[in-house]
Formats: sequence, structure tokens, C-alpha cells
Amino acid sequence: VLRLDNVTKAYGTNLILDHVSFDVNEHEVVALLGPSGSGKSTLMKCVNLLEHVNDGQIWLGDTDITDPRARENDIRARIGVVFQQFNLFPHMTVLDNIILASVHVLKKDKQESIDKAMNLLKRIGMADKAKSYPDRLSGGQQQRVAIVRALMTDPKMLLLDEITSALDPMLVGEVLTMVMELKEQGATILMATHEMSFAHKAADRIVLLRGGHIIENGSPQEVMDESTNPETQEFFSYFR
Ligand code: ATP
Ligand code: MG
Repeated sequence: VLRLDNVTKAYGTNLILDHVSFDVNEHEVVALLGPSGSGKSTLMKCVNLLEHVNDGQIWLGDTDITDPRARENDIRARIGVVFQQFNLFPHMTVLDNIILASVHVLKKDKQESIDKAMNLLKRIGMADKAKSYPDRLSGGQQQRVAIVRALMTDPKMLLLDEITSALDPMLVGEVLTMVMELKEQGATILMATHEMSFAHKAADRIVLLRGGHIIENGSPQEVMDESTNPETQEFFSYFR
């Protein structure tokens, strides 16, 4: 579904991603790990075209999204994105937030979009919050709504960038449970997270970024439990 091929990205002279290559296959959950500042968010922004790569290609299916002729809105509709915070527009109800892109970008029928949004909200037990404004919701509820919004365009994959790191510890579980349910339904997910036990449990593969390079790409067991690379061991030792 997603292929990064020698992606290189610098901010000025600061090289953040140095020839980074890996794939995310269909129905696969890949956890992108690495120290703070290692470029996880930068990588996700390149995939979502919020930043442009300096070199290399990013393929979404058979579209090279780094091609300057690629159409940003089409590509964004094929990738669902949820960030750490500030995902929802505060002046719009939950329902209006969820249907916004579907109605205004994809030009889908409004009633159809509402029906679909309500179904998704029902599935997460939040149909009664459709007319609420985001500030009336807990952080965990806001993030679950943000995931629902990302699902509205039936994206090929989800990019989740530390979606629980701004939450009270008590609210982390409900959001991670929703991610686990999406995995069980066959979603394709690339997620950056500092929740190591969740990454171990939910990810099919761990990609570890460090110093602009991928230093690990393997199963949770291979990377988190069995790697003999001292840099890898040092990274995971902070979470024990
Ligand atoms: P964290 O775990 O803290 O979220 P991260 O792995 O997501 O970290 P990035 O946010 O991708 O890291 O940042 C990688 C590096 O790029 C950092 O050194 C950061 O200071 C730098 N950086 C990020 N955005 C910009 C920008 N717009 N302009 C200049 N430098 C930037
Ligand atoms: Mg980040």
C-alpha cells in the first residue's frame, strides 16, 4: 500500500531523513518508533504531503505522491490522518467535523455522509455526542472522533502520529482499543507511538528510526526482545 524509497528530507542543513526505505503492506500495522526528534512526524508529514521530500519517492499504491503533478486532495483523501492533538475544529459540532471533508472535498451527498458518520459514531458508542462541540468531550472521545473522521473517506491507510500522547493516562486505553479494533477489521496502519507495550502487542512490524536512518525493521519480537544492536537496546531500555 505504501512504499518509501530512499526518502531524504532536510530542514535547511539539518538532515532529518537520510535515504529511508520501507513498506507498509495491506492489512499491516507498522509502528514507527524512535527517539524524540528522530523524524517520525516529519516522515508522516511527507506521506501526507504537508512537507515535501528533498529526494526519493513515496508510492501510495501505484501513485508516486512525490511527483509534483500528483494531486494533493486526491492523495489526502486516500490517507486518513490523526495527530497528537488539535484534530477537531472547535467551532463545529462532532458531526460537522466528521462530514466536512466528505461533503466539501469529496463532494459526497450530505445525507449519505451524515448516515455514514452516524453509523461510525454508533460503533464507538458516541452517537449521542453528534451534536456536541469538541470541548464538551474528553480527550479520549475527541481522538476517537478524529479517527472516525479519518475513516470517512475510506482511506487506503491510516497515519496515526502519537495519538495518545496528549491524553490523561486514564483515557489512553479507550483510544488504543479502537486502534486494535481497526486492526482486527483489516485496516492498514502506520503509527508513531511511545506506547511500547501497545506497539509490541498491536504491530506486525516495528520500524526504528534513529539519526535519520532505519536501524531496525522486523517483528516486535525480533526488534524489541531479541535485537543485539546496542543502539536498539539503548532505545528500549528507557521504556523498561
Ligand atoms: P517526537 O517523538 O518528539 O514527536 P519526531 O520523531 O516526531 O519527535 P520530528 O517532529 O519529525 O521528530 O522532528 C525531527 C527534527 O526535525 C527535529 O530536530 C525538529 O527540530 C526538526 N523539525 C521538525 N519540523 C521542522 C520545521 N518545520 N522546520 C525546521 N526543523 C524542523
Ligand atoms: Mg512527532
